[in-house]
Amino acid sequence: MSAIPIRLRGETLPMTTELLEKYNVQGPRYTSYPTAPEWTDSSPTDCEAACARTNAKGSPVSVYVHLPFCDEQCWFCGCFVKVVPKPDRRGDSREEIEPYLADVHREIDILASHIDRAREIKQVHWGGGTPTYLTPKQADRLAQHLLETFRPAVDAEVSVEVDPRVTTPEHLAVLKNRGFNRVSMGVQDFDPEVQELVNRIQPFGMTKALVEAARALGYASVNLDMIYGLPGQKRAGFEKSVEDIISLQPDRVAMYSYAHVPWLKRPQRVLAAHLPEGTEKFAIFVSGIERFTAAGYTYIGMDHFALPHDEIVKAQKDRTLYRNFQGYTTHAGCDLYGIGVSAIGSIDDMYVQNTKDYAAYHQATEKGRFSTVKGHRLTGADFLRRDVITRLLCHCVIDKRAIERAYSLRSFDETFASAAARLPEFVADGMVELTPDEIRVTTLGRIFIRNVAMLFDAYLEQKAPDAPKIFSRTL
Ligand code: SF4
Repeated sequence: MSAIPIRLRGETLPMTTELLEKYNVQGPRYTSYPTAPEWTDSSPTDCEAACARTNAKGSPVSVYVHLPFCDEQCWFCGCFVKVVPKPDRRGDSREEIEPYLADVHREIDILASHIDRAREIKQVHWGGGTPTYLTPKQADRLAQHLLETFRPAVDAEVSVEVDPRVTTPEHLAVLKNRGFNRVSMGVQDFDPEVQELVNRIQPFGMTKALVEAARALGYASVNLDMIYGLPGQKRAGFEKSVEDIISLQPDRVAMYSYAHVPWLKRPQRVLAAHLPEGTEKFAIFVSGIERFTAAGYTYIGMDHFALPHDEIVKAQKDRTLYRNFQGYTTHAGCDLYGIGVSAIGSIDDMYVQNTKDYAAYHQATEKGRFSTVKGHRLTGADFLRRDVITRLLCHCVIDKRAIERAYSLRSFDETFASAAARLPEFVADGMVELTPDEIRVTTLGRIFIRNVAMLFDAYLEQKAPDAPKIFSRTL
């Protein structure tokens, strides 16, 4: 057994190559439970009925808008994107996407007709694709329509994902002016060799200039995204990228594992060579967590770090942190409504997903209907297990008595008998600590939090051992 030394803020973690081999298996990221492959056919009527139920409850609202366009394909990308190249990247003309934007504007009105205006809007998020593929004028028009229709509460998170290669200070200014207060920038890695291999050339100076512009405009939070495990990545180069990121002092950093799923994402097929794997990939990851934590960032778990002043650090301590399709949030209890092709919602007891077909999306919005094609209505058992998995991912601790009270269970351990039978193995491996009342994830366990969560996934449990693998590896 060979040890892999990891030092986090003075603590040396008991990591070995054997543990890495054992836990680096395929598993979900749990942006939903049950995960999307379990969802089945659904319809606009299902979505409308779910909206009506949430109106009756008056729950707070989160709105997501999917803007799928990009100038170029980054080979690693796992998002639902449409590449529409333009010779002049920062050009003023994006008329090709006007028909899609018209559909999105229509869907804003459709959603508004199904949502009680008295409900509080706590979260608005634009993702993609590249939301700032839109010209500043197009972005301004869309932001105005959306935020005048769904007026965010004073403390709402209003955020946008941007690609520094196409985003101008003017984009940031018009969005800030409309009420956006958070910006999230894709970086991935600053190493020029890696950037070449993944088809994403984005020098450090370009990102730095945009971070400075966002700060100068008064954005309350700047988030930067990195990916480890990309082709050509080496520990030394990645460490340099991490140091560069730290020098920009983002409030939050997401350091995702590259999810190699070429059977789902065809562009990834060109990346099969030069992929760091096993101990090499893990060493890159470890260098990231060691450096971010040494620089004062709190390791939230599930690839996220935040500066101590950030509200998600406090929310994790208070056990109020929540996770949805957009990542960690302090606004638990919102119903999430997705606008745009492929957009996902989580409305009352349903997950719903819009069509990925642009023509079908257009036809639905023209008829004044949602374009829902997939979904899942959660059962009582789904709610229970989703709650346990969410608490693990967000708080790293399960209060068994609190779960028993909340769901009127006779015994947590009896309800989760198969997980209870496997937990001692996780204790022996240093992943969790058990008391009669709690399951507590250790610092090492935070790295393997997806594996701990998988213990409580009934759908995984029901799968035959030889069922086709559909998820990426946990590290
Ligand atoms: S990583 Fe971002 S910019 Fe690159 S293809 Fe994916 S969505 Fe587009």
